Amino acid sequence: MSDGPPALAYRYRDSLYLNITSRCPTACEFCIKFSWNYRYRGVDLRLGRDPAVADILREAGDPSAWAEVVYCGYGESTYRLEDMKEISRSLRARGAGRIRLNTIGLGNLIHGRNIAPDLRGTVDSVSVSLNTKDPVLWAKIHRPLPEFREKGFESVLDFIRQCAKAVPDTVVTTVEGMEPDLEGFKALVAGLGASIRVRPHLDDYENS
Ligand code: SF4
Repeated sequence: MSDGPPALAYRYRDSLYLNITSRCPTACEFCIKFSWNYRYRGVDLRLGRDPAVADILREAGDPSAWAEVVYCGYGESTYRLEDMKEISRSLRARGAGRIRLNTIGLGNLIHGRNIAPDLRGTVDSVSVSLNTKDPVLWAKIHRPLPEFREKGFESVLDFIRQCAKAVPDTVVTTVEGMEPDLEGFKALVAGLGASIRVRPHLDDYENS
C-alpha cells in the first residue's frame, strides 16, 4: 500500500534514479515490480500517469551530489525520449556527472526509427536488458505486448548496435542463470560492439 505520492526520484547507494513512466512494452518474468508490488526498497514507484518534467527535476534535487543519475523506474523511459533530453540538459546544467539509461531496448520499435543518435549527449551510458541470444527464449522471458512480438528481438539487437556507435558506454545485461549458453551470449554481445554484465536475480523484497 502507498503511504504517499509515488517517488519520481529515489536513491540507491551513491546514485539517483529517475522514475519517469510506468508505461512498459513488456512484462518481463524476472521483473520485481510484480513481486514487490511496484515498491523498491521502501518507496512506491507506481505512476498513474507520466509526471511533468518540472516535477521530476524538482524531486531530483541537486544532481551534482550523486555519482550517477539513472533513468530507471518500473517502466520504459524511452517512451519519453523528448522529455529525457530536456531533463538531461537541465541536470547537466546543474552539475550532473554521469547519466545512464536502463532499458529493455525497444526504443527504436516504440518510435519507429533509430533513436540512438538522440541518446548521444542525453546519456553517457546505456544498459540494455537482453538476457538471451535466443529469440524464442527472449519472447518467453520478456512477454512483449503483441505489437513488439514479431520484430522485438531483432530490433533490440539493432538498438544495441546503434547505441554502441552513438553512446560512450553500452552494456548488455543478462540475469544470472537465464541464458543457458553464456559463452554464445557473450560472443553475440561482443559482435554488437557492447560489453556484458551478468546481474543477480532480485526476488526477495528488500525493504531497506
Ligand atoms: S521492462 Fe523493466 S519495468 Fe518493464 S517489465 Fe521489464 S523489467 Fe519490468
